[in-house]
Amino acid sequence: MNLVLRILVVGAGVWACLSPFVWLVFCNMVILALVVTAWACPLGCAPAELKVSDYQEVHEGELPIILESPHGGMMEIPITRPDPPIGGYDKYTLELTQLIRERMIARTGKSPEMVAMLVNREFIDVNRGAGTNAYHHEFTKQLYEAHYAAIDAALARVKSRHGTGLLVSIHSGWNYHVHIAIGVNHAEKWCTIPRFVERHGWDAFQGTNGVGGRLFARGYQVPGFGNAPSGGDKAGVPILTRCRKSGNIGIDGLQFEFQGRTLLADVKRRQQLANDVADTLLDFVNEYYASIPIKSNPSADPMGANVVIDAFTYEGANEDRMSKNSAKPDGTVDARFSLSLRAETNVNIRRIALTIQGTSNMMATGAPGWLIRVFQGERPINTGYVDTLGSYSGSASFDLYVNDNWCSDPGSLWTVTVMPEGGSPVRRTWTMGQK
Ligand SMILES: [Zn+2]
Repeated sequence: MNLVLRILVVGAGVWACLSPFVWLVFCNMVILALVVTAWACPLGCAPAELKVSDYQEVHEGELPIILESPHGGMMEIPITRPDPPIGGYDKYTLELTQLIRERMIARTGKSPEMVAMLVNREFIDVNRGAGTNAYHHEFTKQLYEAHYAAIDAALARVKSRHGTGLLVSIHSGWNYHVHIAIGVNHAEKWCTIPRFVERHGWDAFQGTNGVGGRLFARGYQVPGFGNAPSGGDKAGVPILTRCRKSGNIGIDGLQFEFQGRTLLADVKRRQQLANDVADTLLDFVNEYYASIPIKSNPSADPMGANVVIDAFTYEGANEDRMSKNSAKPDGTVDARFSLSLRAETNVNIRRIALTIQGTSNMMATGAPGWLIRVFQGERPINTGYVDTLGSYSGSASFDLYVNDNWCSDPGSLWTVTVMPEGGSPVRRTWTMGQK
């Protein structure tokens, strides 16, 4: 294509030198081409290799619950960075949303719907109305629209399966003034839970059986309970607006603001919060929206998912098995990680990728990215970039090698992404421990 273009341009140039008339025509064509380009992508054309689905995490589910993480992601996009940035991300809310989903699966054998924007809020904020407040580029506009298309699809599925349900938007503020605030637009007329209010009354939601009352009972500061300071009216603007815009659409919505410093920074505390929020929502939805079969004994077995990532740990750097992009040793030791997966049925693993929050680095078993070499014991699974790692069922453990060992800084956040054939990617984030 490039070659053809070049021949055309050079040809046209030669032509232009030969005749003033042709030169005029050529000039006009160039101007026309520029005008057409500007009209087609007023915000800047998206590079062809960018795929919307790479920047979204979407899980369909059978529960009458939709989890949304609008700006907890840290992925970078190779486009011009908005200056000033569009926003700062809600730290750890993507991880929290993933943990809440996993807990729901463990307790019911069923998944909630989940829609997460993985891109750093510096580039896009889906929690704002459409337009330049939310994105500055054609590609981020596409991402914005894809986010709402996924939310709409989830709302439609929940409605057709259960008649009603609850959308939950997950946010955080590092120094938020209270553990948990629950935004529903605290004015009956504009509230985002019209269906609940219609059937059970406003007081029931604000009472001990509401979401806030149940979380207060689990030891959290919640406005309206005990002597907690008042929480303000934080309520997710665009998505929840959509819930109330056309009146009661039959599905309610609420927004959580979590105090990051106390509830999210520590990994164990975050897991505890995820369990508490998941259990609270399941009980609440079960009582007021649609019946959910909840196991009395939460098991760790997440049925319904193709692949489960059980564990990921840094094992140290002792051997030289590769260079940055190939299986050729380069004289420096490589970082080794262990990864444990479970697959319910025989499933072909197409790709394993590692990303580190706050960086644009990616390591993967297939291009793009720095190479990950995969071993099972001493058996190499790949000796270069591959399209598949083979099929597995039951539990499988792998050793992953990457070229550098700078990346194993304790405290850094690593996201493991496993792409099974015929399923959506499974992601899980871990804080790197000491080694
Ligand atoms: Zn937020």
